[in-house]
Amino acid sequence: MTTQGVRELIIIGGGPAGYTAALYAARANLNPLVIEGVQWGGQLMITSDVENYPGYADGVLGPTMMQDFRTQAERFGAEFLTDDVTRVDFSERPFRIYVGDDEHRADAVIIATGANARQLGLETEVALQGRGVSYCAVCDAAFFRERNVVVVGGGDSAMEEATFLTKFATKVTLVHRRSEFRASPIMLDRARENERIEILTPYVVEKVLGEETGKVIGVVLRHVDTGETHEIPADGLFVAIGHDPSTSLFLEYLDHDEAGYLVTKPRSTETNVAGVFAAGDVQDHVYRQAVTAAGSGSMAALDAERFLTHEAHERASVAEATRT
Ligand code: NAP
Repeated sequence: MTTQGVRELIIIGGGPAGYTAALYAARANLNPLVIEGVQWGGQLMITSDVENYPGYADGVLGPTMMQDFRTQAERFGAEFLTDDVTRVDFSERPFRIYVGDDEHRADAVIIATGANARQLGLETEVALQGRGVSYCAVCDAAFFRERNVVVVGGGDSAMEEATFLTKFATKVTLVHRRSEFRASPIMLDRARENERIEILTPYVVEKVLGEETGKVIGVVLRHVDTGETHEIPADGLFVAIGHDPSTSLFLEYLDHDEAGYLVTKPRSTETNVAGVFAAGDVQDHVYRQAVTAAGSGSMAALDAERFLTHEAHERASVAEATRT
């Protein structure tokens, strides 16, 4: 095992929240190390055009935007480790963060590991991500003006996304694997009453069509009871079957809700462990936007900086008192 010196701040996660926290922390001379994960960039890496991030007047590709965020933090001295954290120990200070056999220690930690949209698990789905397959209607609905789209899911997210998509799409086909819905009655009714939405149950998407053309042209649906399949033409597939926060490493130490999202104090990024902060989608299942994650990352860096400064003052006062 190798052990590094104690840093002031380690940031875990390399998405909008982590890189923005790194930018602020680096500019505050905290010399942050960002353990960004092998798959750095987060959900933006499976997004094509981003048109709702302020400052990019002509839009930007998701991966380009993440590279820009990273470069900006690097410019002020943030360091990056492109590897996955395998274990943490937040039981005492300094906090310990392990990457395999390597131990990293820090006085403060920001967790910005995000959340992953659940995927259907189809090969054709992966191949067409950002080419008609989307996991965020708020982000991508505007690309489907006067088009036909399919939404998968039976929860509130699916109802909300389907309803939102009708602002743009001509027709939305909502596909759910059961005839009963998990969605709240009011949201289900809203979708049922919308004449642009057709609901098909019990069906699953068996295949996304369009690999040859490089963009979605339809889906193959399979009836869950009869096994019969049929194709429907579509320009987009919105998968709305829930999200999973990337928090399994932290649940032993940090307060979390039933779904595993970390709980932070109101109007703050502080967790229940003093010196550990959480930012972005890992603690926010409501907004889930790049811009809100970035804002939350800046808050976490400011909170961490104040925490470390306060501690340094306290230590100086104690040292002064013992001298006199
Ligand atoms: P969810 O409630 O867990 O629903 C996920 C849906 O996707 C379920 O209907 C599930 O089917 C289906 N599903 C899961 N895996 C699937 C797969 N592999 N293939 C096909 N279908 C699959 O998730 P959510 O809709 O994202 O909601 C999460 C939480 O956020 C809920 O508490 C919800 O109320 C809340 N929320 C609230 C609002 C709002 O109030 N405005 C909006 C969005 C979300 P089964 O039912 O068969 O398991």
